[in-house]
Amino acid sequence: MGDCLFCKIIDKEIPSEILYEDDSVIAFKDVNPQAPIHILVIPKEHIESARDIDKDNCHVIGHIFAVIRDLAKELGLDEDGYRVVNNCGKHGGQTVSHIHFHILGGRQLSWPPG
Ligand code: 5GP
Ligand code: ZN
Repeated sequence: MGDCLFCKIIDKEIPSEILYEDDSVIAFKDVNPQAPIHILVIPKEHIESARDIDKDNCHVIGHIFAVIRDLAKELGLDEDGYRVVNNCGKHGGQTVSHIHFHILGGRQLSWPPG
């Protein structure tokens, strides 16, 4: 998608600290970390939000969760745990319209969210 920030990160037009990449998924450090470890995991396919998951693209969402599991292990988050967040739409606080899953870890996180 022409002016999508995360598509530009996928295309390496915008630099990012990439931790994992394969044919369908990329994971990179969030530029404004909210925890000691804050990673974004996204599909390479431009899916706008969780509202746009359907039977044709849902396989990549499952794959993303397998990538999240492996990354969390590699980053040493497995034992103490971590949080996976997807913000969807205006009330969800989504600011980039390319679906993404935050991995937050390395400190005790509170609940409920603000
Ligand atoms: P959202 O608020 O949409 O759930 O999350 C968007 C995330 O993208 C935010 O945590 C924000 O810090 C991150 N972000 C925005 N622009 C950039 C960027 O240019 N590079 C990286 N690595 N992260 C970004
Ligand atoms: Zn995009």
